[in-house]
Amino acid sequence: MFRSARLIALFSLWLLPALALPDSGSARSGCATLDASNPDARATLMQYVCYHSAPPGTPSHDASDPGQLPADMDWTPANGRDLVFSHTRSIYWVHLHIANFGSERAAWYLKLGYPLLDEVTLWQDGNDTTQRLVTGDQRPFSDRPVDYRHFLFPVTLDAGESRSLTLRVHSNGALNVPLSLETAEEVIAGSNHLTLTHGLFYGALLVFAVFNLLLFFSAGTTSYFYNAFYLAALGLFLFAMGGFANQYFWPDSPGFANMSIPLSLALCALAMLMFGRSFLEVERGTVSAKVLSGEAWLCIGLLVLSVVLPYNKSILLNTALALAVIASLFVIAAVRWRQGYQPATWYLLAWLIMLVGGLIYALAAFGYLTDFLAREAMMQVAVGGQVILLNYAMVQRWRLLNQKLLDVEHNARTELEFKVHERTAQLRNTMRELEKANRKLSSLSLNDALTGLHNRRYLDNILPELCGEARRSGQPLALALVDADHFKSINDTWGHGFGDTCLQFIAEVLTRHVKRPRDVAIRFGGEEFALLLPGTDAAGALKVCVALLEDLAETPIPAPDGSDVRITLSAGIATLESGEDQGHLFDRADQALYRAKHAGRNRVMMSGTDREQSTQPPRHSSTK
Ligand code: GH3
Ligand code: MG
Ligand code: MG
Repeated sequence: MFRSARLIALFSLWLLPALALPDSGSARSGCATLDASNPDARATLMQYVCYHSAPPGTPSHDASDPGQLPADMDWTPANGRDLVFSHTRSIYWVHLHIANFGSERAAWYLKLGYPLLDEVTLWQDGNDTTQRLVTGDQRPFSDRPVDYRHFLFPVTLDAGESRSLTLRVHSNGALNVPLSLETAEEVIAGSNHLTLTHGLFYGALLVFAVFNLLLFFSAGTTSYFYNAFYLAALGLFLFAMGGFANQYFWPDSPGFANMSIPLSLALCALAMLMFGRSFLEVERGTVSAKVLSGEAWLCIGLLVLSVVLPYNKSILLNTALALAVIASLFVIAAVRWRQGYQPATWYLLAWLIMLVGGLIYALAAFGYLTDFLAREAMMQVAVGGQVILLNYAMVQRWRLLNQKLLDVEHNARTELEFKVHERTAQLRNTMRELEKANRKLSSLSLNDALTGLHNRRYLDNILPELCGEARRSGQPLALALVDADHFKSINDTWGHGFGDTCLQFIAEVLTRHVKRPRDVAIRFGGEEFALLLPGTDAAGALKVCVALLEDLAETPIPAPDGSDVRITLSAGIATLESGEDQGHLFDRADQALYRAKHAGRNRVMMSGTDREQSTQPPRHSSTK
């Protein structure tokens, strides 16, 4: 069935020149008739298209329908080329004659794959009908015959029917008229592919933008925010350029459709600048910073102007600015790279891709390059590459910052450790000094400065200790209080200085006689001394004291006037009795000493007994 239909179609094609259908359109434009039922023929649609450029002031410019066109108007065959016209104020008349050489009635769509045309009118002249469809981005989206971002005109032909299709295209700015004639299936298939690629593209942009925004919220780093801003602005611009914004964002505001493109482009350029300045860490006051802030002000100015200026002027200005921004960011990134700023490497690569992609896209959008759809796809690849590289650059930058932070932390820690070490050493030294000073202080506080013997404070400390120990161990403890006899008269006779010398001498004699390691000699008053003899009983203590008194009494001390002075001592001894405390012991020794003094001095008295021990022969303490 299908095969026979195809054979018939081929046969019809062969018969084509002979058919010589009455066809005013093809006759008028001089272009051949396209067999719509033949896919191969449809694939080469532009071979069948003729066009006429009508500059302002010509009758064809003023004509509002094909019937008003001058009969001798010259049509130019497209010869397979896309219809692309850079900035022009002309109206374009496009003509195509099609026929259905198939055996059945069939429907196609004439597709105009450039969404930014202001006004497009299609006339279909058939044997007995004339249809007129008006569309364009200056009209509400709902006016379109098919709800699609590109212009789709349904064309239905009975078997053998032919029709003359005339398009009147008018637009501010560049003009792209990429035409194709497709079956519903082909339109759906093509739309599916495009929907998928566009969905992926815009989805990825959105995800990256949201991700960067979240990073900004959590880390507070402004370059994440600018990256999100840039991605959103770039997405909006491409969305508007692709006709999606017109379809989904503002379908009922056709007036805004045109304006949205220069507006979003200026916004995009501003976002690029902010992101670039932040990412590249351009320092204030440098030439780069001045260039960027000048451009930023231009962007803001053009944002405002986009609302006021006509589309064809603002789009030109804004495109020039956007390209200048991309180029200057590229140069600044190169400068930063040369300055050794590592993350600039990836940024530079990203911007190089963007520069090439943007240039090609702009040339195609302005009608200097054909096949806008292919350029759009190329731009999407460029943007995709750029976005990935930029985000990789962000990661690199983050890594670098992190590394710097770690280094700073490490250095700070090392320095701190060193300082702590240093301070600890200093502290240890100070402690040592302090300990030494303390030791000296405590020895000073426990020793007598004149004689070097222990002092009263020491006696007060040690006596209770020794008493407790003696009570616990059951060992005897003897305390002897020794006082120089008539010492006042020595001072009076030879002066205080000699008196001190005598006291030092007495201390030496005492030290000599206190031989056991635990024995202690103390100067606890002016010329009053005490001997503490642990483990020594009364007899032992008596022996020590007698020997001491004898030794001193027999040893002359040379006085300042050359005479010999002999000093005598009196002593009172008490030994610790069970149940006795140190106070009582001391009192008993003191009483014994008092008795010794009373009994004539230069003698030893034992407490508790009246037994007097004296050196032989008792003598006066001082002789002259
Ligand atoms: P007695 O035999 O009764 O003990 O007579 P004394 O003169 O030794 O006793 P007294 O308590 O009346 O006098 C003690 C004297 O010891 C008074 C003071 O001149 C002298 N003296 C006390 N401490 C020091 C001292 O540190 N240096 C000197 N040079 N003399 C001192
Ligand atoms: Mg005294
Ligand atoms: Mg005395």
